[in-house]
Amino acid sequence: MKIDKDFDPAETLQNIQYFGEFGGVNPSITDSSTYTFLKADRMEEIFENEIEGCYLYSRHWNPTNRYLSDALAGIEGAPSGQVMASGMGAITAVMLQYCNAGDEIIASRTIYGGTYAFLKNYLPKFNIRVKFVDITNLKQVEEAASSKTKMIYCEALSNPLMEVADLKALSGIAKKNDMALVVDNTFTPMVISPFKFGADVVVHSLTKFINGSSDAVAGAVLGEKEFIDSLMDVNNGSAMLLGSTLDGLRAASILKNLRDLHLRMIQHSKNAMYLARKFEELGLKVSYPGLESHPQHVLFESLYNPKYGFGGMLLLDAGSKAKAYKAMELMQEKQTGYLAVSLGFYKTLFSAPGTSTSSEISEEEQKEMGLGDGLIRMSVGLDMNIELTFEKMKAALSEAGVMG
Ligand SMILES: *Cc1c(COP(=O)(O)O)cnc(C)c1O
Repeated sequence: MKIDKDFDPAETLQNIQYFGEFGGVNPSITDSSTYTFLKADRMEEIFENEIEGCYLYSRHWNPTNRYLSDALAGIEGAPSGQVMASGMGAITAVMLQYCNAGDEIIASRTIYGGTYAFLKNYLPKFNIRVKFVDITNLKQVEEAASSKTKMIYCEALSNPLMEVADLKALSGIAKKNDMALVVDNTFTPMVISPFKFGADVVVHSLTKFINGSSDAVAGAVLGEKEFIDSLMDVNNGSAMLLGSTLDGLRAASILKNLRDLHLRMIQHSKNAMYLARKFEELGLKVSYPGLESHPQHVLFESLYNPKYGFGGMLLLDAGSKAKAYKAMELMQEKQTGYLAVSLGFYKTLFSAPGTSTSSEISEEEQKEMGLGDGLIRMSVGLDMNIELTFEKMKAALSEAGVMG
């Protein structure tokens, strides 16, 4: 898919108009799992074909899910979308929709631990083969392609190593080999718009930045209408049949959190940039795409929507597991954030990815990809006084022996 290079994700959101049943400024919530029909033959029709504005059963479609899906499709510039019960529900449905037994997937080796485990441990039982590659090595990606490959799977900005996927080049490789480019954009909503560069499908964990209040688990798939409809097909759609559709009540609460996503992303990015610079000034090893020292800083600048900055995620190397653990405990004690997995919260969240969110990846493989056990992954919060937060973090890092 290719969308306008000047596309602005927040503009679409601002222009969406939904009215509630009584003219409410918020759309009505449809709290029903099933829908009545006046004529029996109408029900037969809808089982065979989707009829615009007609609902059958909420695992298939629910009006509230439709509002949220449309809004998310708007943010990514996609014609269609569907919301899922989790990010993993979205990712697994897409993979199983594309692949039959005997097919292959090319996947970046530095991805979310759950996705990695699904590809590595779960898909073999369906005889779907996965070739893990260094996604920054385009030659390796190209060489992994075969006539059986159905997709290239990557994260726009990878979890947790902050590798940037060259979406332009990857979509070229995908097109040439008749494969789909599927991009997980969970780390960089609004910051990167993968459809600008020819991605075919975008997946999200809404649990993170998009919902932003750490009170919901949800996911989304965005893409061409034909593909989304195939996921929801009553006879062979993987979301419809495996049942990963989101509950409509939850969709309503996530929709309301979406409205200030642009402001939150700007503030997350601003604070992350400030901390990254300050950590670097202290002589610490920090990985953040906004820093010139990031090996793909220039590539990131060719991909991002500058208004929204470089995102809210950064990676700090504390040198050893013991120091990382101590530093995180002290940072929590000094009230700079929480020692917790996940991301996109108003408070800073920090965790050691090697022994938590990426623990599905074996120690040996972690070493090979540069995932040391002294790493601290930070999802930087919305702090107004980030200068004070930094001073407290500096004290914690110093006390933990991170600085020399
Ligand atoms: C959290 C996360 C997922 C999984 O999402 P859930 O909502 O927890 O299922 C997938 N990809 C990335 C990059 C994530 O951070």
